[in-house]
Amino acid sequence: MINAQQHQPAYLRPADEVARDLSVDVTVGLSRQEAARRLLRDGPNTLVTSPPKPQWRQLLAQFQDPLVYLLLCAVVITLAVWALEGWEGLPIDAIVISAIVLLNGVLGYLQEARSERAAAALTDLTVVTASVLRDGQISRVPGSELVCGDILVLAEGDSVGADARLLMCAGLEVKEASLTGESEAVLKDTDPLADDAALGDRRNMVFKGTAIVQGTGRAVVTATGMATEMGAIALLLAATAEEPTPLQKEVRKIGRMLGIAVVIICAVVVAAVLMVHPIHSASDVVAILLLGLSLAVAAVPEGLPAILSVVLALGVQRMVRRNAIVKNLASVETLGAASVICTDKTGTLTRAEMTIQRIRTASGETQISGVGYTPTGDIAHGGAKLTAGPLLREQSILLNGGSLASNAVLRQAANGEWIVHGDPTEIAFLVAEYKLGIHSQRENRFQRIGEIPFSSDRKLMSVIATDRENLDQENRDQENRDQENRSQTVLITKGAPDVLLDRCTRLQIGTDVVPLTADLRSRAIADVDQLSSKALRTLAVAYRPLQPGDESHPSAALEHDLIFVGTAGMIDPPREEVGPAIRDAQRAGIRIIMITGDHPRTAACIAADLGIIAPDGAALSGAELDTLDADAFAAAVRTTSVFARVAPSHKLRIIDALQADGHVVAMTGDGVNDAPALKAAAIGIAMGITGTEVSKEASKMLLADDNFATIVHAVQEGRGIFNNIRKFLRYLLSSNMGEVLTVFLGVIGAAMIGLTDASGALVLPLLATQILWINLITDAGPALAMGIDPQSDDVMDSKPRCACESVIDAQMWWGVLQLGLVMALATLFTLDRYLPNGFMEGDQTVTTARTAAFTVLVFAQLINCFNSRSETSSAFNGLFANGWLWGTVAISLLMQVAVVHVDVLNIAFGTTPLTLQQWLECALIASTVLWYSEIRKIVRRIIGANGKAAVV
Ligand code: ATP
Repeated sequence: MINAQQHQPAYLRPADEVARDLSVDVTVGLSRQEAARRLLRDGPNTLVTSPPKPQWRQLLAQFQDPLVYLLLCAVVITLAVWALEGWEGLPIDAIVISAIVLLNGVLGYLQEARSERAAAALTDLTVVTASVLRDGQISRVPGSELVCGDILVLAEGDSVGADARLLMCAGLEVKEASLTGESEAVLKDTDPLADDAALGDRRNMVFKGTAIVQGTGRAVVTATGMATEMGAIALLLAATAEEPTPLQKEVRKIGRMLGIAVVIICAVVVAAVLMVHPIHSASDVVAILLLGLSLAVAAVPEGLPAILSVVLALGVQRMVRRNAIVKNLASVETLGAASVICTDKTGTLTRAEMTIQRIRTASGETQISGVGYTPTGDIAHGGAKLTAGPLLREQSILLNGGSLASNAVLRQAANGEWIVHGDPTEIAFLVAEYKLGIHSQRENRFQRIGEIPFSSDRKLMSVIATDRENLDQENRDQENRDQENRSQTVLITKGAPDVLLDRCTRLQIGTDVVPLTADLRSRAIADVDQLSSKALRTLAVAYRPLQPGDESHPSAALEHDLIFVGTAGMIDPPREEVGPAIRDAQRAGIRIIMITGDHPRTAACIAADLGIIAPDGAALSGAELDTLDADAFAAAVRTTSVFARVAPSHKLRIIDALQADGHVVAMTGDGVNDAPALKAAAIGIAMGITGTEVSKEASKMLLADDNFATIVHAVQEGRGIFNNIRKFLRYLLSSNMGEVLTVFLGVIGAAMIGLTDASGALVLPLLATQILWINLITDAGPALAMGIDPQSDDVMDSKPRCACESVIDAQMWWGVLQLGLVMALATLFTLDRYLPNGFMEGDQTVTTARTAAFTVLVFAQLINCFNSRSETSSAFNGLFANGWLWGTVAISLLMQVAVVHVDVLNIAFGTTPLTLQQWLECALIASTVLWYSEIRKIVRRIIGANGKAAVV
């Protein structure tokens, strides 16, 4: 696969030689056809340690379950008895049980396939992409499609997609901690190494899974997939197969616990029956054994984990439709428990459509009209059009400088439409420059030759440009003539005014440059405050002619002794949907914290506008945070809701402090330096549009629309899913409880309700096959439908649930027990009423009585679906909200009608047709479960309203 390594390792050889061996022209890259051919030859660039399980094995796995083994034992026993008794008729029970085992297996398989499909679809949405040069054009391709010989185009924030030999690089720094454990970023170069070197010292290589923290570069791919260095440690990665979520673990535990309890109860029931009741034949023993086994199988909620996975997976899909892409199922649960959302400001709370509205320079302020990116508008001073003079001069330098120190593009398409590309802050300068009509002046005069990129740590960005006419004729005249060359290259810096001012020693006033005295400095600071207090985002511009030779080492060290020009104030309007979303979150007891790199005053103004803080509230700055000790820091985090001018490292400390207080924190981030905080947060959220690949990789959720409101929707969805999980747990557990109690109490109290024949032998309350049938028709369908129940409006009315809270609390267990008991009593009541003897004198046959009781239990369970949708609100609230639930209930009812009225099913399940009156009676008796639950809910509401602990 790795041609380059057939010779010496790529890092020991010149880059062009490596590229030649890989048959690629480094100026155009591979052709698309060639890339496709290599992909076919080498396979996808993924780390796979074991092949996926074939479908037939997944189906077979459904039958690898102790409960299925039990049922299969039952089949063998029935077949043996049938053989002993002379092969008479058909072994009905054996056939029915086998059919049910098969059907359950297929249902389980379909459920699993559904959740796997959902997970696969999600993987496609979160795929990491890489920039490559193919057919002479740069495009982004999924990382899995990279092939040897591809030319990677690397930039800050990228995640390196494959191992590659660097062809060229500029200030390229790569964090290789994932591979080498070294936390410091490594500065790369392209020179071949003289000797073999350890991974961390191969400076002319970049490796799959590492992150570009700064600079740019190009590299030719030398290894992909398992052949990469990351592949070599993939055995460790193999263990990262998705872990069961905490909820899945808890539900499995509950399932196991209940399983043991049920099996014990069943064993007791079987033993009691065998000891107490007279036994006439081997088939009597088999019938009782079968009953015990079936009851165990039906009552053990073995299907719970599968239903849970499907419900979580469907929830994830619903979130995707609302632009929240959750990477793993566990985050769905965590989202539902989120108690704090820490959010960026720019682009998340605001629209990131910047427009410069005001500019303050030494000679005064101008106002610029127009909104958006269409460059039409006027620049005025004191209400009049700006005319020639010092102010115009300063403003022109500021806008030309800001536009030059930029990577954005503004151009008009053939159809007249304005096309913008790049950072909105930078676009704002281009637009304002256009409005002043001075863009061509800059384009003709300056040629950009170097860049010191923006980082949210430095909060500055500089470019080095050759000044074709010299930046300022008058300035030059004042400069020493023998330093004529000084102004041929110039450094232009733009950035956060407070940071930039620290690097300035001079000030531009009209055409003059004067020393920046303390007085002038405080006036510049006051200008910034003025603009910030109008909620404007502020950016200052400064410049400096460079010494000859400086341009060959573009680094932050050049950003000193600058000439301050002035500050631009831009509006960045809040997104309309953010205000209501913040109010929703606050109503739901979720604290919103704004963490921004912007100026404290601008941040506080916008936070107050959005209702995050009171109108007179203030922001705490990163510098202020740095002065606090650990306790004071923790206290500040408890009370502060706006942090401004912070660096990414502050984010990490804030998260840690909040999580130490027991909060479940959701946090947004977009830059490469946000990755540690995104990883540390319970729910790291990356920006799908503007986020770097590294931040996307580090996060647990992506916002497809970069919008804060989407986070709140996701939390709401997460809460809804948790509630739905509780609903189907309540339903399934009370149903199972109903079955167990029916058989248990039926056997214990057989004599009292007439469940004995003439000889005193026990008449089984339900047949084994009937119990398995109930399990088949009432479990999976309705439970799944309940799992996708539409959210009730009040889901955001309660405080966040504690992450430590168990999904089934004591209250819920108590409810489950009560409803299970009501169902059992209703079923036994039916038996008593239809059978001779007992409390009531009936006149029906055992088969009819059992069919009616069987039907009552099915009805009661189906009615209980609607009860289980809430612990406190009536089943009639939003009764028809869930069409799926009605659909599954209707199917179950039809199946019950079939089992009672279709001949062959009568034989299979020991049933007999019921009259219409008997059907109605069954429905009426079963409805007790509804009325009981309604009364219980009323009492609970009353007690709840009185603030007492509910014991009902
Ligand atoms: P948030 O953290 O909420 O996204 P932000 O965009 O203001 O807000 P940063 O991107 O860290 O945060 O920017 C911090 C400051 O750096 C800004 O307030 C601005 O003054 C300055 N700045 C932002 N973008 C640029 C840029 N492209 N060039 C120079 N300076 C910039």
